[in-house]
Amino acid sequence: MNGLMMDYPLTTNTILEYGNSVYHHKKIITYLPNGARHEYSFGDMYKRCKKLANALTQKFGITKGDMVGTFAWNHGPHVELYYGISGIGAVCHTINIRLSSGQIEYIINNSEDKVIFIDATLVPLLEKIAPLLETVEHYVLINAAADFKTTLPNTIHYEELIADQPEYFEWPELNENDACAMCYTSGTTGLPKGVLYSHRSTYLHATALMAPNAANISNKDTILLIVPQFHVMAWGFPYVCLLSGSTMVMPSSNLNPEAIINMLQVEKITKANGVPTIWMGVYHELKKNPPKEKLALKEYLVGGSAVPKSLMEGFDKDFGIIGGQAWGMTETSPLGTVSRLQSKHEELSDAEKLTIRAKQGVAIPGVEIRIVNDDGTLAPHDGKTMGELQVKGAWVISAYFKTKNQDTFTADGWFRTGDVSTIDEDGFMEIKDRTKDLIKSGGEWISSVALESALMAHPKIKEAAVIAIPDEKWMEKPLASIVLMDKEDGVSDEELIELLSKDFVKYQIPKDYVFINEVPKTSVGKFDKKEIRRLFSEGKLS
Ligand code: ADP
Repeated sequence: MNGLMMDYPLTTNTILEYGNSVYHHKKIITYLPNGARHEYSFGDMYKRCKKLANALTQKFGITKGDMVGTFAWNHGPHVELYYGISGIGAVCHTINIRLSSGQIEYIINNSEDKVIFIDATLVPLLEKIAPLLETVEHYVLINAAADFKTTLPNTIHYEELIADQPEYFEWPELNENDACAMCYTSGTTGLPKGVLYSHRSTYLHATALMAPNAANISNKDTILLIVPQFHVMAWGFPYVCLLSGSTMVMPSSNLNPEAIINMLQVEKITKANGVPTIWMGVYHELKKNPPKEKLALKEYLVGGSAVPKSLMEGFDKDFGIIGGQAWGMTETSPLGTVSRLQSKHEELSDAEKLTIRAKQGVAIPGVEIRIVNDDGTLAPHDGKTMGELQVKGAWVISAYFKTKNQDTFTADGWFRTGDVSTIDEDGFMEIKDRTKDLIKSGGEWISSVALESALMAHPKIKEAAVIAIPDEKWMEKPLASIVLMDKEDGVSDEELIELLSKDFVKYQIPKDYVFINEVPKTSVGKFDKKEIRRLFSEGKLS
């Protein structure tokens, strides 16, 4: 028997309509690439979304299922694109501007974008490959001066595109399972693959993310959206802000630590999201130049790669700011797990609390996780046994876009993450490594993540990335590449070995250390271990 409740489609249009009806007075503030500050209301943004919807359908003939690309930083117009494109039933494909030109060309041709909306400052990146883009009919320039010159064909300025369009547009009826947006994986482990989000998955993900046990967002918050809109839809925050009525602050390309701290202070930011590299930069800058007034920032949401325990401890002790760690992937929209202390942890010591918070946390409602042994059997939740992390849920991928090879899915419907983790008795998951980054020395697994976290706790070490290198006797052994805070301030191998001896047994401790200027990073700011391994194998790691 069916329930007798309304069939109310969960679409991004309902998010936009809700944001406009309840929070039309709330603000979207953008810091433009030149540092200028722009501010307008959700209500103004709503009207521009409708003008955009008219322009897309009337001027460009975009219809349901068409792909429309964005190549842009975080700012007001990019939020309009999220809602305007998806609202008419087209797919908002956010292209990662930091990928190589070969990858960008591949992604645009693979997705078959018909129109690309592009920031004026990013135009040179696409000009080079424009002749190779087979399906793009129009380019729309965002924030371009009137006399802006480009070799891109068929261009129009964004403001000109929407200027004479009506503010009235009736959204078409959409099925909540229709596609609304697409991101490609950043290709850390191979060619980028398209992840096609549905309206329903996007809506449900946003409501789950907003909850107190997840990102804990309300209309009292002012949020700095540091995670780029081209990376997993800024972790879903452009949707969360309209549902929760929180003020949105968009940094565009102002992402250096000084610029971020300035926005934290001026806008009295209460929450912000970012990968660990961003927060490490902010922390070191705050230590160097402590703010005169206590920051309004209560919590930073951090994830995307392992968060050093020392970073969480430092922020907490030095500035009273809590790090909320989350785990996720492009394929999981991204939120999968969140690490928060629970009521039963209140009596624990600070060190014990930190150990829990440094884990990747428990699955949020709507997501299930499990770990699986090499032979396919389920691994126990004892906090010790490592297994491949598998996930399923309402906003987890069921198949990659246009990809025949779907071997990352199990026969019983779980997604294989490629991460190796443990899960403890309370359901707290802890990432130990990615399958490809694991080090197997003399038949024993060594967690590179744990070694990195311990090394980065050393006051003189800024970054540490550990990879496996070949070894005649043990097959593989760990090698630590290290960036010092101050190059003049040397650290000896012996000192590091002694530091690690506190937490690791002898065979797990690297004997090899190389001191480098910077750890190579991926397009989204993660340690690029593939690149470190390549540099090592070519003798260039120094
Ligand atoms: P890509 O897979 O292309 O690197 P994603 O952004 O989807 O791009 O990366 C997802 C991966 O990032 C996860 O599989 C995991 O390895 C890593 N990751 C995400 N969050 C965390 C976290 N909190 N701690 C450790 N690793 C994380």
